[in-house]
Amino acid sequence: MKQVRLGSETVVAIGQGTMGIGGYYCRDDSRDAEHLRLLQQGFDLRLTVVDTAEAYGEGHAEELVGQAIAGRRDKLIVLSKFSAEHSRSDQIIAAAEGSLKRLNTDYLDVYQPHWPNPNVPLDETLDALDRLMGEGKVRSVGLSNFQIPAAQQAIGSLFNGNLTCLQSEYSLVERSIESSLLPFCELNGLALVAYSPFQQGTLLKRNARTEPLHSMAEDYGVTPAQLALAWLLRYPNVLVIPKAGREISLRENAEVLALKIP
Ligand code: NAP
Repeated sequence: MKQVRLGSETVVAIGQGTMGIGGYYCRDDSRDAEHLRLLQQGFDLRLTVVDTAEAYGEGHAEELVGQAIAGRRDKLIVLSKFSAEHSRSDQIIAAAEGSLKRLNTDYLDVYQPHWPNPNVPLDETLDALDRLMGEGKVRSVGLSNFQIPAAQQAIGSLFNGNLTCLQSEYSLVERSIESSLLPFCELNGLALVAYSPFQQGTLLKRNARTEPLHSMAEDYGVTPAQLALAWLLRYPNVLVIPKAGREISLRENAEVLALKIP
């Protein structure tokens, strides 16, 4: 099974994204039962890392993850994020309390600023994260959509715990991290959490742009989604977090953990 280092832990290299589970930018509870079942099926299929955010569905994604993890929290790795507008110290503490409550857990494995906030010094954000780690509410820190200088600052200044990962968009068609962020992660023992691996699904629609992926997948006897994920996992420190809204998608994605493509 493909695995990746996340700080001191070894975790499965494919997780579950949750943007759109419980709504995108607004809360949507119309598919709650289905989404809850899918998250739990994902855990059963060994997709035991789940990435969420306070922003997704205005907190409803976290509520659904909270229900899904009940009874098996200790076997799962939960990543969440606070929004850029909550980057001030007291706002981060309040955001973390909100996420812990919605997730019905007393700790987050990884807590991440979702995006940089240019109006708040990074030191202030890192100090608040350090405080949360000191209190045991957060086990490690990740940075989402940040660049190398910020990661260097975090490595140098986090006191009570570690920076374990950087989260960035990464797919067959969005490869800008390959020249800098990805090697930086490798060098510094960080996992690269790859989001939007299917470019939100557009990569999986067959057209002139995506034809090479589709025809190569046919040659290998796998689906385009599986080939796209397997390709990302050629780097040993990449943890990919596709979002699946259907059981067939979930199963296909989980199969990649054991897939060998020459
Ligand atoms: P994505 O994972 O690239 O694509 C999701 C789309 O792909 C859905 O429409 C899904 O369709 C489809 N899909 C998934 N597996 C499939 C399969 N095996 N076969 C066919 N279609 C498949 O998009 P994403 O949601 O943007 O990214 C994934 C996660 O990354 C998010 O959920 C979120 O947790 C995280 N993220 C983070 C940031 C950030 O700023 N940090 C930004 C974007 C995303 P169905 O739903 O119909 O299965």
